[in-house]
Amino acid sequence: MFSYRNISSYHQYLSQNDQGCETAVRYYLNNISAQQHLNAFVEVYHEEAIKRAQELDKKRKQQKKIGKLHGVIIAIKDVICYKDHTVTAASSILKGFVSMYNASAIQYLLDEEAIIIGNCNCDEFAMGSSNENSVYGNVLNAFDTTKVPGGSSGGSAVAVQANMCMISLGSDTGGSVRQPADFCGIIGLKPSYGSISRYGLIAYASSFDQIGIFGKSIEDVSIVLEVISKPDSYDSTMNPTHHLSGISNEISQINNKKYKIAVLKDVMQHHSLDNEIKSGVEATIQQLAKQGHICKEVDFDLLNFIVPTYYILTAAEASSNLSRFDGVRFGHQTSTSISDIQDFYTKNRTEGFGKEVKRRIMLGNFVLSSGYYDAYYTKAQQVRRLLVDKMNLLFKEFDAIILPTSPTTAFKIGDKQKDPISMYLADIFTVFANLTGVPAIALPRYTHSNGMPFGVQLLTKINDEKNLLGLSRIILNEL
Ligand code: GLN
Repeated sequence: MFSYRNISSYHQYLSQNDQGCETAVRYYLNNISAQQHLNAFVEVYHEEAIKRAQELDKKRKQQKKIGKLHGVIIAIKDVICYKDHTVTAASSILKGFVSMYNASAIQYLLDEEAIIIGNCNCDEFAMGSSNENSVYGNVLNAFDTTKVPGGSSGGSAVAVQANMCMISLGSDTGGSVRQPADFCGIIGLKPSYGSISRYGLIAYASSFDQIGIFGKSIEDVSIVLEVISKPDSYDSTMNPTHHLSGISNEISQINNKKYKIAVLKDVMQHHSLDNEIKSGVEATIQQLAKQGHICKEVDFDLLNFIVPTYYILTAAEASSNLSRFDGVRFGHQTSTSISDIQDFYTKNRTEGFGKEVKRRIMLGNFVLSSGYYDAYYTKAQQVRRLLVDKMNLLFKEFDAIILPTSPTTAFKIGDKQKDPISMYLADIFTVFANLTGVPAIALPRYTHSNGMPFGVQLLTKINDEKNLLGLSRIILNEL
């Protein structure tokens, strides 16, 4: 029976198995069909994945050198364009839309011989924290199917959690990779803003969005990161000086480094933080200290401004990004009669967008409107600046920050549906990495007495994936 540990042991297995890729694909396809009730996938590329596996198996026989992701089976979130495949952002406004090109990240995966097995369910336009805002219905957490998997990349998280692929891609605008990773007990990485091309990623809030990676080992996540972080002239917000092409090797060479780690007092004392999660994070801090790392408490008095700032700015950007979905050249068109062009737009968008997306478009238009622009949008930009300054200051003294990923473990499906504000507030520990652009990772560590997993989150300064992943490896492998 096939079993998977990490990319390097899989590659070893392939070197002795002429049909290894095909065996692996069939194993995952079986797991997918046996767990359809979890609703993690929008589409599974059944025949295509088998065909590609067979081609790769054949290729391996002929030439020894294989790609870094040779035969690695990957699922992608339904917001990432894959040529000739549907991409819908889990929205009926894009139902049936077929992508005409590959997102750069997808192209880089394919160039290194990965196999894409399907695309995953998510919150509509990546807006949400529970995967309850999808036109395809909820995704269920495989640990407890009455609970949410987190969002917005819930399907991608469950696909890895429940062994339906080896690795998956999600997108993280305010925590959508880290929070579902935390709720599902796997690793979720959001790289620095500007390190992975956003070309072909359906935009939610462009100055926050980053493609992120789900996996079960730091080694795997680092290899995928180095593959997809290649420079790309199609995304002018990429940082041309940030090179991660040797990151997996670099982190394996970090030895005996002692880290200086900040513990944010205001986070650890926050009223929303579950007691057991707090104790878990404290236990990790103690273990780190025992190993000779320096952990020190610091103030972080901007904490309560984070969520409002995030929701003002992302709603503003979303209202602009989503204005292109008018049904004229693509997307949903109303079948009812229309009186004029205005009526046409209104009906297409009213029928095509779900409730949460509409709420954010309206909120975004409101904060950008002439009478309120300065009071909300400008103010929020100023707070964003303060946060960046605060972060820079902290990272002058520290290598990393440690904190929880989410204030609670996965909650019951339906629990927060009626109260969007309580859903927004639960993003408190994830959104500031996106507000400031720094890289962040969620690491699985513990099981709560309620049976659900949780872990810790790490942040480092912008473009310091090396220390982020280096410290992650210590936490997961050595504590
Ligand atoms: N939960 C956050 C939101 O709803 C984060 C979403 C994301 O990262 N895509 O905006």
